[in-house]
Amino acid sequence: MSDSVIAVYPGSFDPVTNGHLDILKRAARLFDRIIIAASESGRKLFDFALEERLTFLHDSVERLGYRNVEIDSFGGLLVHYARDRNASVIIRGLREVSDFEYEYQMSVMNRKLIPSIETVFLSTSSDYYFVSSSLIKEVAALGGDVSALVPSIVNDALIARRRKPLEG
Ligand code: ADP
Repeated sequence: MSDSVIAVYPGSFDPVTNGHLDILKRAARLFDRIIIAASESGRKLFDFALEERLTFLHDSVERLGYRNVEIDSFGGLLVHYARDRNASVIIRGLREVSDFEYEYQMSVMNRKLIPSIETVFLSTSSDYYFVSSSLIKEVAALGGDVSALVPSIVNDALIARRRKPLEG
């Protein structure tokens, strides 16, 4: 068994933003292998289907040319998924103070569940601290230009969505 360090970077990625990719860039320097794990279900209802979220991630990561990054999805408990993938680290990004409370609580809970898996928090670049998937969707839906804040495939999808009449 090699002693390479595998890290899981979980999230909704609904859709992936340059803020997510900034954290990925830092993490890819620190760990031997990163598994980006898009949640299949969670606290939120997703705007983009899992297949779309995965396509956005695949395209973005391919463009960046990382060789040590894999993309997957997961359901159920994150720590169980991480354990099954032989990961010893969970990566989370921190933007502002409001992220901290929930993230801290989750990390302590996850350590209670499986003590050998460590959560590592990486702070965002100042260019992206205000970027969240939900704000991006809101601004894009109202016609704002978010092209500097998301990968091009996501920007195209947001524009296509704006042109489509709302369903339901
Ligand atoms: P979740 O629903 O699990 O919070 P998100 O896709 O919203 O999923 O976020 C996944 C991770 O990426 C979280 O750790 C979040 O804090 C981090 N993240 C999201 N946007 C940014 C950003 N702009 N800068 C740094 N980290 C971010």
